Amino acid sequence: MNFLEERILKDGVVKEGNVLKVDSFLNHQMDVELFDKMGEEYAKRFAGKKITKILTIEASGIGIAAIVALHFHVPVVFAKKTQSINLDGEMYTAEVESFTHKNVNTIIVSKKFLGPDDHVLIIDDFLANGCALQGLIQIVKQAGAEVAGIGIAIEKGFQSGGRIIRNLGYQLESLAIVEEMDAATKTVRFREQ
Ligand code: 5GP
Repeated sequence: MNFLEERILKDGVVKEGNVLKVDSFLNHQMDVELFDKMGEEYAKRFAGKKITKILTIEASGIGIAAIVALHFHVPVVFAKKTQSINLDGEMYTAEVESFTHKNVNTIIVSKKFLGPDDHVLIIDDFLANGCALQGLIQIVKQAGAEVAGIGIAIEKGFQSGGRIIRNLGYQLESLAIVEEMDAATKTVRFREQ
C-alpha cells in the first residue's frame, strides 16, 4: 500500500452516493507535505516527458497542482469556473458537469497562458466519471497544445472516467485507485498497482 492509500484508510470517510470525503488532508484542510510526496511520485511516473505547464481546475486541484509544480519547475494554470472582470482578452472554454454539485460549469482559461508550444500535465484531485478531465483536455486541444500526461490523486475505479480516459490513449497516473467502497461498513478496497 502506498502513502496516499494509507492516508485514505486513516482519514478518509466513505459517504453515501459514492463520495469519498478527504477534507481533512486534501479538499479543505491541505497536507502540503503529502502533496509534496505526490509531486515526487508524479515526477517519477512522468520522468522523461517534456512538460512545460501544469493545468488544473479550481478549487480543489489548485493546492495540489501548486506543490506538484515544484517538482516540474513549470507554471500552474487553473481553469476558472466563473467569469470575472479580471478575465480579459480571449479565452478557451469548455462545459463540465460537476459530479459533486450536479450542475454544469463553463470552465475558462485565458489564451495568454496556454498555446501551441505547450506540453501539458493535467493534475486533479479526483477522477469519477471523467467530465472534469474531458473539459480540461478540450481546453488543451483548443490551445493546439499537447496533453503530456494526467496525474490524479484518487481515482474511483468503479466509475467510468478512468476507462474512458485510458481508452483515449492518455498516460493517466492515479496514485490511489479505489476499486470499491461501502458507506455502511466504512470500508475501502484499492486496485493493486
Ligand atoms: P468527474 O468529473 O471525473 O466526474 O469528477 C471529478 C471531480 O468531482 C473532481 O474534480 C472532484 O472535485 C469531484 N469528485 C468526484 N468524486 C468525488 C469524491 O468521491 N469525493 C470528492 N471529495 N470529490 C469528488
